[in-house]
Amino acid sequence: MQSHGLHCKSLLFLNSSSRNNFFLSSLSFAPKHKPVTSEDITLMKIFLSSNSKILVLTGAGISTESGIPDYRSEGVGLYAQSTSRPIQFQDFVKSPRLRKRYWARNYVGWPRFSSIVPNVTHFALRRLESEMRLSSIVTQNVDELHRKAGCKNVVELHGSAYRVICLHCRYEVHRHLFQETLNKLNPSISIVSQSVRPDGDVDLPQDFVEQFVVPNCPDCSGILKPDIVFFGDNVPRERVDFVKNLVNTSDALLVLGSSLFVFSGYRFILQAAELEKQIAIVNIGETRGDKHAHLKIDKKCGEIFSNLFENELT
Ligand SMILES: [Zn+2]
Repeated sequence: MQSHGLHCKSLLFLNSSSRNNFFLSSLSFAPKHKPVTSEDITLMKIFLSSNSKILVLTGAGISTESGIPDYRSEGVGLYAQSTSRPIQFQDFVKSPRLRKRYWARNYVGWPRFSSIVPNVTHFALRRLESEMRLSSIVTQNVDELHRKAGCKNVVELHGSAYRVICLHCRYEVHRHLFQETLNKLNPSISIVSQSVRPDGDVDLPQDFVEQFVVPNCPDCSGILKPDIVFFGDNVPRERVDFVKNLVNTSDALLVLGSSLFVFSGYRFILQAAELEKQIAIVNIGETRGDKHAHLKIDKKCGEIFSNLFENELT
């Protein structure tokens, strides 16, 4: 009996230890930051209560707390940890070899990427939305974590990794269904990957990539691509105009977890500043919009919102 008890104890120890490691690795994508103070919370409360139609702009910094690394964070972002860079739109279109490599990596990364769940910031925004305090949420993320949290008015500025589109006709398929097609076309391939990137990309050996089979559009044989705005491509004009109109009709702009390095998001800060809207930014580290912000909190979004709502979120 005694040895059995000891055995159970060591198992328990192992379990709790591996669970801790899991949480540590999930949190490791958030860069170093200072703890939130009561002054931060008070200032954010004032911002939220003094504006009735707030437009929220979110970036990769809010998904890091769900376990998806961003591109640019100091020390922990993808660019700091790897020399490989995301595919450029023109390369994807022009090169069948690069396209094959892209889809092979995306295929392997998909089960992990699609299993990632929202965190406290996503749930806080759902609550603010249900209280009619937000005009809309504009996200630069393609991970659909706002939708998974139950948010309704979400504009996906850079598209979604959950849709696959044809570049030549209007064919569109859900990414989960496309995974089934890829499974059927690649029956001998089984690699389990635990690493993940902001767009679902992973690293793979070359021979794996060479064997990988990618289908063309079933309607017109055109090129299939995730419905994501790749680097080197532009956000569709009508989507930009739609968000510009949201900025126009909102009282304030709240930026969460974005360095605003990419112009596609930065332009809305410039617009809001010109229209003299109230601007607040919560982001670890400097952003391009800091000089326009009435409130800048250099802290982790999840800590701000968990303090604001004191565990009332689900
Ligand atoms: Zn097509």
